[in-house]
Amino acid sequence: MDQAMHQEKDCLFCRIARGEIPCKKVFEDEEIFAFHDINPAAPVHFLIVPKTHLVNLYDADLDQAPLLGKLFGVAGRLAREQGCDDGFRAVVNNGRVGRQEVYHLHIHVMGGPQPLRSGR
Ligand code: 5GP
Ligand code: ZN
Repeated sequence: MDQAMHQEKDCLFCRIARGEIPCKKVFEDEEIFAFHDINPAAPVHFLIVPKTHLVNLYDADLDQAPLLGKLFGVAGRLAREQGCDDGFRAVVNNGRVGRQEVYHLHIHVMGGPQPLRSGR
């Protein structure tokens, strides 16, 4: 990747990326990985995460556009592979107001057989 991979010792998702904490993996390559959310909010709920530590979208700029594009670029294929063939929701929570809990950038992919609850 363009930038040197940066990880944080105690960050939960950096630790999952390093294999120190187990996860139910959906996808992995050299730059990104995806795994099922431990507390699913929908019948299908997985997270797509960069291996490099970015806090959230405030921590990204145009230099990270290829990486951000890659995160979204696999979402449709992975959603379909997980059984979401009639739509899904992709959400990024940022900071306190966005109710972000894990401060390592991730995209939530949520779907299932029925339309999700309406939300903003
Ligand atoms: P956020 O609120 O930061 O956007 O979402 C963080 C998500 O990470 C939550 O949906 C939560 O259930 C999930 N999560 C927290 N800890 C773990 C974990 O140890 N393993 C997995 N697979 N998901 C986690
Ligand atoms: Zn991290």
